[in-house]
Amino acid sequence: MKSNLKESEGRISNSGQAVIFIVMAICILVFAMLFMVDVHRIIFIKDRSQNAGDAAALAGARWQASSINFIGELNLMHALASSLGDEASVDVITNTQMRVCFVGPMTGVAAAQQAAKLNGIHVNEEFTSFMKEHADKIENGYASIMNGSTALPEPWLGAWEEYADMVNAIADEGVAAGVDNAILYTDPMGAHPLLQIEFYEAIRGKNWCWFHFYGVHLLEEYDGYTWWPALPEQEEIVLTSPEFLPLYLKPSEQKLSSVAGDGDASIKEAEVQGIELVPQKSHVNEKLENWYYYNSARWGSWDTMLDPAFPIEGEVRDEYNYQGADSVMRVEANSHRLMEDAKSHDTIVWTGAAKPFGYLENEDGKTIPNAVGLVLPAFHTVNLIPIDASSAPNGGSFNMKWRRHREYHLPVYLAEGPSVLSSNCKYCRQLVTWEFPDFRASGVEWLSSNSWKCVISPPGGGSSGGTRHAH
Ligand SMILES: [Zn+2]
Repeated sequence: MKSNLKESEGRISNSGQAVIFIVMAICILVFAMLFMVDVHRIIFIKDRSQNAGDAAALAGARWQASSINFIGELNLMHALASSLGDEASVDVITNTQMRVCFVGPMTGVAAAQQAAKLNGIHVNEEFTSFMKEHADKIENGYASIMNGSTALPEPWLGAWEEYADMVNAIADEGVAAGVDNAILYTDPMGAHPLLQIEFYEAIRGKNWCWFHFYGVHLLEEYDGYTWWPALPEQEEIVLTSPEFLPLYLKPSEQKLSSVAGDGDASIKEAEVQGIELVPQKSHVNEKLENWYYYNSARWGSWDTMLDPAFPIEGEVRDEYNYQGADSVMRVEANSHRLMEDAKSHDTIVWTGAAKPFGYLENEDGKTIPNAVGLVLPAFHTVNLIPIDASSAPNGGSFNMKWRRHREYHLPVYLAEGPSVLSSNCKYCRQLVTWEFPDFRASGVEWLSSNSWKCVISPPGGGSSGGTRHAH
């Protein structure tokens, strides 16, 4: 009896253990399966974002290339018309160039949207509302006279209305790929601490080392908002192409004789491109006309304009070693996880960068397209480039909170003090912390004995995470 009972107890506990084991195994399997599905989903979405971002960037760059080539062709036609004394044609050509400068890049922005959507990226609400906001600004701000400053000069009559229409048309379709290298994101030059996004990040993270490198005097000497130097004056801008996918070309008034005169490389290049220019000594040659040139502030060689951390390994061939027009597109995709609650998701961001390339062939070999200054049709290909070699700014691109802080909060804070800081703005909140004397004193104290721990941090990075090194 006794032993029988023991046996049956044993059977019960054995089968009980088996059930527990099976339940555990099923749980593990289910979790493993969910995990695998999540991993697959993330990889799938990452691949898709990457394809979409790269495709969008390439689409934008292709339109930049064709626009610049077209403007270059028109320069050559201009030279021909001008040398024949055909003033009416010169006018039509110059007018067409002005419009191509706007329509070309904006078509590129639209083409980028198609490319992103065809690769499975959905419309992004933030990017779309930004486009709409900007269209409003063009329509209501650029053409009017505000705060005593004059209106932004129009390249042609009614240009701002047409430009606003183009931006609106793209916003109406929904923006899936944000233009990450829009001129709009370029923060004013100068070293004002309040215009450095890193300043706010240093406060938030109590990164006293930032102050060690930037200037400990900030922590030591600051004694209230009136201490800040004035913000730099907004540079007066002249737009010759849209703020999105800018071509960085500029019209310049020149006589034909100086564009195609003796000793000028331009005529030689033009002849190499297959057009014979025979400037005749007519009155037309002495007239100042608009020709399209590369803006030399933007079209320089890569190795002189980039910091030493240039991410390309090895040599860049001379004929490809130039900055200038490029296209940087950001896409964002959400991947919902099965393993956690439905609200949790990973946002996968991919920034693709591409650039038109080409060269001029002459007796000396190959030279960069901007070697002669005058725009000529020279672009043959578009290629993906590393994001660090692109013109996308380091901080602030598509960071609407930062843009609003910079444009609207800072001027009021500098005029009226910390009482106007907005608790809804994460940058304003850092300024509130900054105002506490104890906060700044603790930094000075830490640095007095720990500054040796500060090592130079690599350039770039910041809150944008890994996106800068997208490829
Ligand atoms: Zn703010």
